[in-house]
Order: sequence, then C-alpha cells, then structure tokens
Amino acid sequence: MKCAKCQTENPETRKFCRQCGAKLLQVCPQCGPGNFPGDRFCGECGYDLALPPQPVQQALSFEEKPDKSQGYLLGRTNM
Ligand SMILES: [Zn+2]
Ligand SMILES: [Zn+2]
Repeated sequence: MKCAKCQTENPETRKFCRQCGAKLLQVCPQCGPGNFPGDRFCGECGYDLALPPQPVQQALSFEEKPDKSQGYLLGRTNM
C-alpha cells in the first residue's frame, strides 16, 4: 500500500502512513480513493479491488532526429 503523499510503501494492514502519518486509502479505479486498506470491494461502487488496476497507456514520445549542426573546421597547416 503506497502512501499517496510520500510514496512510502506501507503494510496492507496499516491505516496511516508510517512516514508522514497521512491516512492511507485504497484507490478505487472507478471512483477514486475512499476505501480502507484491506477492503475487498469498493464501498462506493462495488468494484472488485482485488483486480489489478488497468495499465495506464503512456504516449510514446516521438524519436527526435539528431540535429547535426554543420560545422566545418578550417585547419590550415602552415609548414
Ligand atoms: Zn506518507
Ligand atoms: Zn469504487
């Protein structure tokens, strides 16, 4: 159970964060935080909290073409 405030990993049985004392709430994917750690189903919408949360789709950043600055070095050998 990760604390939403300080990202500290707490045991599932904890109701308050051991680092910052913030109230630990289990986040429901459908209606947000509002469930206590250890709850099996969401008290608001009945969502099965045992189900793994759906992966968040991350937009892939386009590959940027390396901008090659054309710099010619004028080297003169005066020997
Ligand atoms: Zn915390
Ligand atoms: Zn819910």
